[in-house]
Amino acid sequence: MNQVPRDLAKPARANPVRIAPSACPHDCPSTCALEVEVLDARTIGRVRGAADNSYTAGVICAKVARYAERVHHPDRLLHPLRRKGPKGSGEFSPIAWDEALDLVAERLLAAEARHGAQAVWPYYYAGTMGLIMRDGINRLRNAKKYSGFHQTICVNPAYVGFSAGTGRVAGPDPREMARSDLVVIWGTNAVNTQVNVMTHAIRARRDRGAKIVAVDVYMNDTMKQADLAVLLRPGTDGALACAVMHCLFRDGKADRAFLERRSDAPRELEEHLRPRSPEWAAKITGCDVATIEEFARLCGDTRRAYFRLGYGFARSRNGAANMHAASCIATVTGAWQYEGGGAFHNSRDIYHWNKTMTEGLDVRDPSVRMLDQSRIGAILCNDADALAGGPPVTALFIQNTNPVSVAPDQTRVKRGFARDDLFVCVHEQFMTETARVADVVLPATMFLEHDDLYQSGGNQHILLGPKLIEPPGECRSNHDVLAGLARRVGACHPGFDMSPRELIDWTLRNSGWGTIAELEANRWIDCQPDFDTSHYVRGFNWPDGKFRFKVDWPNVPFFSPVRSGPTERLPLLPDHCDVIEEADAAHPFRLATSPSRSFLNSTFNETATSIAKERGRPEVMIHPDDAAALGIRDGAAVVLGNLRGEVRLHARHFAGVRRGVLIAESIWPNHAYPDGRGINTLTGADAVAPFGGAAFHDNKVWVRAA
Ligand code: SF4
Repeated sequence: MNQVPRDLAKPARANPVRIAPSACPHDCPSTCALEVEVLDARTIGRVRGAADNSYTAGVICAKVARYAERVHHPDRLLHPLRRKGPKGSGEFSPIAWDEALDLVAERLLAAEARHGAQAVWPYYYAGTMGLIMRDGINRLRNAKKYSGFHQTICVNPAYVGFSAGTGRVAGPDPREMARSDLVVIWGTNAVNTQVNVMTHAIRARRDRGAKIVAVDVYMNDTMKQADLAVLLRPGTDGALACAVMHCLFRDGKADRAFLERRSDAPRELEEHLRPRSPEWAAKITGCDVATIEEFARLCGDTRRAYFRLGYGFARSRNGAANMHAASCIATVTGAWQYEGGGAFHNSRDIYHWNKTMTEGLDVRDPSVRMLDQSRIGAILCNDADALAGGPPVTALFIQNTNPVSVAPDQTRVKRGFARDDLFVCVHEQFMTETARVADVVLPATMFLEHDDLYQSGGNQHILLGPKLIEPPGECRSNHDVLAGLARRVGACHPGFDMSPRELIDWTLRNSGWGTIAELEANRWIDCQPDFDTSHYVRGFNWPDGKFRFKVDWPNVPFFSPVRSGPTERLPLLPDHCDVIEEADAAHPFRLATSPSRSFLNSTFNETATSIAKERGRPEVMIHPDDAAALGIRDGAAVVLGNLRGEVRLHARHFAGVRRGVLIAESIWPNHAYPDGRGINTLTGADAVAPFGGAAFHDNKVWVRAA
């Protein structure tokens, strides 16, 4: 049963606009608290940020502010569809829901009968971040002993790198940025991807005269707003961090008392850093010595220095080492001890969720294989190593993701999806590239059309996202579809018999966060631990309480039991780790595929405003001197290539990159490229050490005029 959520504004006149609370479901660390204009039972108006949420502070990104464009889009999927033409032809005919679910169940059962339950792979990701609608697919997986989904595409190197030092993925309250004297925004283009970081950083500059330093691989909008922009070559952040720490020790700015008390090997670190000078780092990073020295001076002279460490610089084959190295700076200076100081990446470890009911953890069999999300191409192409010694995957059930566009190694992904013996069901909001190659396509609700529960990564709130409007056509929620499928394939778990609201209430109660009624009344829960906990005043999260400069990589605390990648090549102490795809004679450029402002992965690819704001076509930024050397004029058609394939797009001259670096912002749909090959044709799916990951910003390529 869906209850009508508490309104934020009482109607004062006839046909009033109702303002209702919500939460942003998208894969963005901000998880903004929203206020939505509800015009009638099926229609929304403008979306705003909740002014009284202390993190959102009334500010949200433009793409969600105009969400009506997406929720009421004429191209939304409205009815279940069955393929009638050849695979990938895009020819479908409508069928009834019961017929569709019967067909999907029949094909999953057939796959199970032929090769065993592990031939079925429920595949999902973060198209919604709601705990009910995103994670429920794991309940089906666990109840049926289908192949498991080893999440790797986004967070693994970053989380592992951060907890390598602290022992925990959590840190000082991100609102403390406003009370900092130096905010270092490292490896995240916050203006594009988590606008609220800028809110708090700019408050600090306005109210306290704080300095903002940005570290990134191109002069993006965040770098342009910084007082000091540290422009690097991709994958060299570890070298920068080492040089900064070298200066801190050299100049007597290391907090030696704190280091002796709260770190494992400070003297060994100091000795190790002695040859890693700014001159050494300048050769690796491409950044000039004076900028590195200035960055180090700011770090050394500012007690309240807040290091806001993003995901971007960890999406590299040495990403975990880079994240760890950056987090070490706050320990050398002792910044953790001060309000507005320390390092923060994500609040993941503060929520202590009990996910038994949402994910069916009580029926999970740990002996069932886990398949690497990022290696879907190799898996579907029957690579024995990727299949972990098990049977082929012959049935995919997909929610919340679009792997034919967003997964690395796209050529293999497409080849795998084209297999005649592979059955694919996609439950989606639009006819994505992945939906187009499916056998059955089911229409999905959007976040305003179902109830869900959210946790913030980039701050510390639990939020409720209640159903506010009726879905269009015959759209059904992920939970409804999973429950319908579970009945048909014999998956038993009490979670399938509960409503989303009941699941939310159960999860809150059994995680120590109250009830859904309380959450509905209060709109959110501020879960920020106290100062001593979040600043590790009583010690870091290790038995001896000491921050780890020396990392035991295979045993860093992490939620995944699956280890992968060349862990033995990760450095024991902070360093530049040269496992990256370094440029060579045949591939003289390094390519990063950075996020755009108006798309969010492949979400918003369908809205006209986002397409227009992204200049209407895929482009690659190239330094004008590189372009001149290759005879590539501004706006010219070019081809990028490497061993994985070729991509055609247009060049944009841009002086805000180092020579030899290319930036292709955003994931455009594959059909936006002249020959249908998207940017992930160039990205690799080889696992990032030590627990997997996708190195989206770590590609060597060549470029030539088309
Ligand atoms: S900034 Fe992020 S969380 Fe906030 S509304 Fe935009 S996409 Fe959603």
